[in-house]
Amino acid sequence: MRHICVIGAGYVGLTTGICLADLGNQVTLLDIDAARIARLQSGQLPIFEPSLGELLAQNMAAGRLVATTSYAEAVPEADFVFIAVATPTAAEGDGANLSYVEAAATELGRHLAPGRRTIVINKSTVPIGTGDWVADILARHAPPNAAFAVVSNPEFLREGQAVADFQQPDRVVLGSTDEAAAQEVATLYLGTRAPIIITDLRTAEMIKYASNAFLATRISFINEIARICEELGANVKEVALGMGYDKRIGPAFLDAGLGFGGSCFPKDLRALAHMADRAGLHPQLLRAVLDINADQRALVVTKLEHLLGSLAGARIGLLGLTFKPNTDDLREAASLEIAGRLLDAGATVVAYDPAGMERAAMLLPGLQFAGDAYSLAVDCDALVLVTEWNEFKQLDWQRLRTAMRRPILVDGRNMYDPGRITAAGLVYEGIGRGRPAARPRSADQRPRTSATTS
Ligand code: NAD
Repeated sequence: MRHICVIGAGYVGLTTGICLADLGNQVTLLDIDAARIARLQSGQLPIFEPSLGELLAQNMAAGRLVATTSYAEAVPEADFVFIAVATPTAAEGDGANLSYVEAAATELGRHLAPGRRTIVINKSTVPIGTGDWVADILARHAPPNAAFAVVSNPEFLREGQAVADFQQPDRVVLGSTDEAAAQEVATLYLGTRAPIIITDLRTAEMIKYASNAFLATRISFINEIARICEELGANVKEVALGMGYDKRIGPAFLDAGLGFGGSCFPKDLRALAHMADRAGLHPQLLRAVLDINADQRALVVTKLEHLLGSLAGARIGLLGLTFKPNTDDLREAASLEIAGRLLDAGATVVAYDPAGMERAAMLLPGLQFAGDAYSLAVDCDALVLVTEWNEFKQLDWQRLRTAMRRPILVDGRNMYDPGRITAAGLVYEGIGRGRPAARPRSADQRPRTSATTS
């Protein structure tokens, strides 16, 4: 049985640690957040991630998984140590903030056991060259006779499907100057039967950035096409369908909507563009991808202004807050920016989300909350679908319409059939699905209470 330590018990560290325990390894989850570790020790998963909680319970009960805040407890015994701490955008500039990686590598170096060899695996998404830098930090802090090798193993999991992505990944990428160490790490993944690509450290780090940049580019591409569709009267959903059957193109990541968010795409694109800038290059495509994404969020607010006349005094209901369904993650979620813009314009913003309301309340104090989609709709002038949670797929639109002050739906994810929504008596406005809807007439509207509305 191999001993594994995972530093950082967040979305990536928890998935990696719990799934590796499930493959029969002895795993210690290590985090500096004492509250998070206490929750884990009591058997609770501190994040929302489908089926990960069940695996946590099973593997803790089997004695293969423990959690601690102590490097001294977790590191010396470990054959493999994964670093899975966050690498957010730096407070100044667009580069990655590597302070968490630096702190983790420093403590790890100090606690490496003398007289044994430890393989340190970097799972965090880090700028190209970070693997060498981590090796230097380890060398500065490790006891003289502790041996180690550094392997880059970028993570490609999707929140909401993290367990399946660990268990059946499309590929495993390993990069190192020490090929034997990379081969040893590869044995940890044998149970997944995934193709394993072994390369050098920098190439492995770059594969992660290039993959995220490519996926984000597809999203911004289809969003730009959506804008053109809207002006020219075409339907982007059908355009994407027609494109996706082409084997050279494929259907994935061609959904027009509010753009990409989350803890990865935006910050990884910024970091890659930053690296290119620093190398004296002009990453125009990456910048355009980010600009188009920012425009998609502003677009929703423009659509609401068009449909409502004025946002001052309007009551807008947001269906969903998290950056995508099946996660509680709000990092760089479109909802935060849209809600902020609406509040600035004088609207009242109410939201309902199955998993993201607790965090949203801390991030946006002006936001109000409802207990479900139906109470959300009460007295709203418009609803906006922000996150395509399953429970929003089969709503009773006649009931929602009756509760609303003005019957308007902006479908930010193009999830609904416009025909069904209009048949229920609502004005439907999607993203790039033909010409924008006209402002509804006041016939079936209840009187507005605010003097500032049109
Ligand atoms: P996260 O913020 O959810 O978790 C990071 C954890 O690290 C936190 O619990 C934090 O307390 C802990 N931590 C910070 N400093 C520490 C230290 N010195 N010692 C021990 N623990 C420490 O982050 P995440 O979403 O899991 O992302 C981790 C990395 O993986 C990032 O580089 C990210 O870009 C990358 N990644 C994330 C995803 C994703 O979907 N979230 C997917 C692929 C790659």
